[in-house]
Amino acid sequence: MIKFDYSYIFILNIIMVMTTEERKEYNRLYRLKNQEKIKEYNRLYRIENQEKIKEYQKEYQKEYQKEYNLKNQEKISERQKEYNLKNKEYQKEYQKEYNKTPAGIKSYTIGNWRANGLIDQFNDNYESIYERYLTSTNCEECGCEYGIYGDGGGRWKCMDHDHKTNLFRNVLCHTCNLRRG
Ligand SMILES: [Zn+2]
Repeated sequence: MIKFDYSYIFILNIIMVMTTEERKEYNRLYRLKNQEKIKEYNRLYRIENQEKIKEYQKEYQKEYQKEYNLKNQEKISERQKEYNLKNKEYQKEYQKEYNKTPAGIKSYTIGNWRANGLIDQFNDNYESIYERYLTSTNCEECGCEYGIYGDGGGRWKCMDHDHKTNLFRNVLCHTCNLRRG
């Protein structure tokens, strides 16, 4: 025969008739009295369920993020817009500064050569002809010193190339480059 546990009914009765406040107080006292026991129980529970807890936390984090994003759509898109704008300005400023450096000038110059179809006959990605262009102080044809584009002398530095094959030939002053065609 199963012996009925009356203490269970007694506890149930207590719980049933307790108001919310009373229940809170009861729980508080229970926790206070059993602090050490609860602590130990929690500690063991955490050790035994490490993986489960981690999984749960991950899931919770994901749900929370989803809910947060949904609730803050406008704020997030506003922030993204602001970031993009600032970043665009920053990139522009950065590019401007970079274009002034030797590496920037090189990349810009070679970019122009590429766009104009100039072919580097050494096939070394313009390295040697850029070096030649950079260090050339006098026209390889007439020997004049180079001028600056727009100074009226027509002696600025040019990359002379074969117009049929686009192959680079010489670094020349503008006048010699025109004469050669
Ligand atoms: Zn010349």
